[in-house]
Amino acid sequence: MSATGTSPAARLIGGSPPLHRPMKVTIGYTQSCNLDCRVCYADCTRAPSPRELPATTWIRLLDEFFEAGVISVMIEGGEPLHRPDVLEVIAHAAPRAMTRLRTNATLVDDAMAGRLKAIGLGDAMVDLLGATPETHDALTGVPGSHARSIAGIRALRRAGLPVTVLVIMNRGNHRELQPLLELAKAEGAEAVGVLRPYPLGRMRRDWGTLSLSLQEMMAAIAALRPPEGIRLMQSWHPNDANCCWQMAAVNAYGHSIGCMYLREYVDYGDVTTMPFLATWDDPLYRHLRAGKVEASCGGCASTQHTHGGCRSTAYAFHGRWDAPDPFDSGLNGGVDLRVLPAPGPEPELGPGLRPGLGANHDAP
Ligand code: SF4
Ligand code: SF4
Repeated sequence: MSATGTSPAARLIGGSPPLHRPMKVTIGYTQSCNLDCRVCYADCTRAPSPRELPATTWIRLLDEFFEAGVISVMIEGGEPLHRPDVLEVIAHAAPRAMTRLRTNATLVDDAMAGRLKAIGLGDAMVDLLGATPETHDALTGVPGSHARSIAGIRALRRAGLPVTVLVIMNRGNHRELQPLLELAKAEGAEAVGVLRPYPLGRMRRDWGTLSLSLQEMMAAIAALRPPEGIRLMQSWHPNDANCCWQMAAVNAYGHSIGCMYLREYVDYGDVTTMPFLATWDDPLYRHLRAGKVEASCGGCASTQHTHGGCRSTAYAFHGRWDAPDPFDSGLNGGVDLRVLPAPGPEPELGPGLRPGLGANHDAP
């Protein structure tokens, strides 16, 4: 693999397929949850903020997305089922687009699973933080949450819904990934997604104790042997996609943020007061979608047809939107992923671009 042009002043290289409309959208339905995960990117509270959009507004926004050509809707949070009115939104979206739900499954019993199936949910992505109750519950902060998530997965499977298990890899669970694959197989999941950690929300505050070096993560991934019938999905090298070109996301307060992993860095506008497509034209949004970067790994470019890896972690570690993604082994450049850079002066971004604005929180 090769990396080219590592200086900020280098000519930008690469490029993404042009897309004039989003094809898929992620909805951050709520920033509330019944768990207290140390890795929570949403920094969830127990009670939903009154400023979170009601289901009726989401349904109107979804119609705008469908008119623009969106064919896939991912609903996540927080814990979406912590707000029961999410069922109205799923029921509206499911006949019009592939509709997926990311959930901790602790609020799913047979009645809820049957309802989700009946209103047309496509599949469920269930977060587990460990193969054992000890590991999982220590990371969620709620005793008994592992048992309740497993019960939820069983209910989803009994209702005939496909389940993918997701795990945010961290120092508390990286030795339990193989048993987690075995558990997912035993519970009838189709796939396991091993996700790299992002320095966002509570995970950022606990980064010093929960993060891993790139070498530790690569070794843990390399050691995995997926049981027959389990598809292993991983989100870093050699699969370091720069998927900004196709992403749209709206947070719980109605702000267009491009991707949930950009939730603390960008704000392209309030889609309750302006058309979504006006935010899609924001100069920074257009810049990130263009996929031109300072350095690109040849392996990623050939396998993913995108360049430079994830823009969220590139910005988090380098403070530049076009910087190399340090989670990519070909572009890491000696960055110790266990050490977050101290906040510095806002970087120079160029004409039309701006630093992160932090649209994640319930600001007054
Ligand atoms: S289950 Fe998900 S949304 Fe809830 S606290 Fe944990 S990470 Fe946050
Ligand atoms: S910020 Fe990262 S995960 Fe999100 S769309 Fe961009 S490259 Fe993909």
